[in-house]
Amino acid sequence: MRMRVLCGAVAVAAVGLVGCGTGGGGAAPERTVPGQPAPAVPSPAVPSAAPPQALPLAGKVVVVDPGHNPGNARHAREINKQVDIGTGRKECDTTGTATDDGYSEAEFTLDVARRLRTLLEAQGATVRLTQDGEHPAYGPCVDERALIGNKAKADAVISIHADGSGGGNRGFHVILPAEVKGGAADTSAIVGPSRELGERVAGSFAKATGNAPANYINKGSGLDVRGDLGGLNMSRVPKVFIECGNMRDAKDAALLKSPEWRQKAARGMADGILAHLSA
Ligand code: ZN
Repeated sequence: MRMRVLCGAVAVAAVGLVGCGTGGGGAAPERTVPGQPAPAVPSPAVPSAAPPQALPLAGKVVVVDPGHNPGNARHAREINKQVDIGTGRKECDTTGTATDDGYSEAEFTLDVARRLRTLLEAQGATVRLTQDGEHPAYGPCVDERALIGNKAKADAVISIHADGSGGGNRGFHVILPAEVKGGAADTSAIVGPSRELGERVAGSFAKATGNAPANYINKGSGLDVRGDLGGLNMSRVPKVFIECGNMRDAKDAALLKSPEWRQKAARGMADGILAHLSA
């Protein structure tokens, strides 16, 4: 038996080079006869990368918005500055929340955004992050985040967050833009496609993570609609927010802190975006 196992190992390591006996006892490998040319060795088939235009998201632009910024906490004055959110004025940004032991929402969102970028780029998408840790220490402001998606003429935008609700409140939810008109805001053209995007993301996020929709938002529907978020109000391209879990709940926090779970979360988002853009 030992010979067979060894033979199998050789066959795997040098596929196409050495015949492996099936008749028991281990057949001798083919030998080169002195003075004669070695038998032609077929070159192993190297799978070629699919041309970019064959990838499902080729030609699509996705803007990924990691909520908050790890530097916001050190720039209270700047992020408290009021900006236009269409229906009124609101702070440029906030610090976001954190787990009880100090893992910040901003660290979480940036990590998931980078994972999501990798997954979407592998499908051929052009991906732009609104900040990648390089933004001058804070922000950008929520209105600016929306403008980045607009300027990029994004096919889809996702803003990544984690919630700061009470203990026992668990699960994710996706926030869709309400119909808002006022000032520089007009979501009338994006309400429909954003809902379609959000429903896809909610479904695939549940599937990829195995987590249930939030038990404290809209009776567990996994969806919420809001008209008070500048990042949605100012968007002219389909956009949703996702609150991936509740950082203040110990069980959700354990998931949010796990790199393996964050990869599943990013996969869920990528699958939803892919389904939406392929529909
Ligand atoms: Zn947030």
